[in-house]
Amino acid sequence: SNLPRIEFLSKDNDEPHQEKFEFTPTATDLSYAIHHKQLVLYYQPQVNMKTGATHGAEVLVRWLHPKFGLVYPDKFITLAEQTGLIGALTEEVINLAIKQNVQWQKVNKSIRLSINISVQNTTSLKFPEQLSKLVNKYQLNPSLIVLELTESVLMHSIITSLDTLTRLRLKGFQLSIDDFGTGYSSLSQLHKIPFTELKIDKSFIAKMGQENESKAIVETCIMLAHKLNMEAVAEGIEDKATWDLLLAAGCNIAQGYYIAKPMPANEFDQWQFKQHI
Ligand code: C2E
Ligand code: CA
Ligand code: CA
Ligand code: CA
Repeated sequence: SNLPRIEFLSKDNDEPHQEKFEFTPTATDLSYAIHHKQLVLYYQPQVNMKTGATHGAEVLVRWLHPKFGLVYPDKFITLAEQTGLIGALTEEVINLAIKQNVQWQKVNKSIRLSINISVQNTTSLKFPEQLSKLVNKYQLNPSLIVLELTESVLMHSIITSLDTLTRLRLKGFQLSIDDFGTGYSSLSQLHKIPFTELKIDKSFIAKMGQENESKAIVETCIMLAHKLNMEAVAEGIEDKATWDLLLAAGCNIAQGYYIAKPMPANEFDQWQFKQHI
């Protein structure tokens, strides 16, 4: 139909949105939310494409607003980055994610959790030490934590981030380069950072069935990742046709609505991959 799509609280409209009021948070609103437990975590499964086994989950933050309902990160991450609240926000997300993983560890279900961090988080040299102390406190293996950084912002601050990222890696955390293919990074810069994973941007994944150029880019990214000894993760897989193309291209790890939408921890507990290979 040519009716305009109603825009709710996220431009991507990732999950059903119940709320249709426009909400433009201020820094004060967001600060209150961070410090009063209004942030909640959703978990989106990542699966091993060859075995169907759960490989891990990406942690995606939402703001459970008492009046506006579930608010999506597109509405507040940029605000956090611009107002200096991103340090506190990331700390809260990491704390919640680690505590959840400790719960899962108790029932032998601890998993690899991918956490999004902003480039501002990597300008603090104390960050690796703080994160290390936190995982030690909960006796969690640091290799279960993957830190995702987007390619585009990273390349603007590679000099300041390199030291922090190297320290994180030395402490045993994994590092993922997110939205790969959109940031025009030079390969000579990229290989200086000890990334363990390359996440291909979903815009290429979405078009790979229709467009030969996108398919070629995805295939090249997978080869590049493997040649540099990184895992290749495809995100934004929405259908079986795309899954099949990625499998044929040698991709190992898959994430997207075709597999599962992001969900709260209690739903994730019940979730099982129903794959039709
Ligand atoms: P991202 O890191 O690229 O995360 C992937 C986004 O794609 C998520 O949107 C996810 O819900 C959505 N997605 C997953 N599968 C599919 C699919 O098959 N099709 C489509 N069209 N979309 C899919 P979400 O949760 O709204 O997050 C948006 C962005 O907000 C994230 O993009 C990330 O950059 C940022 N973000 C989310 N949580 C955090 C956080 O805790 N900290 C920081 N700094 N940023 C976060
Ligand atoms: Ca979104
Ligand atoms: Ca991400
Ligand atoms: Ca991404």
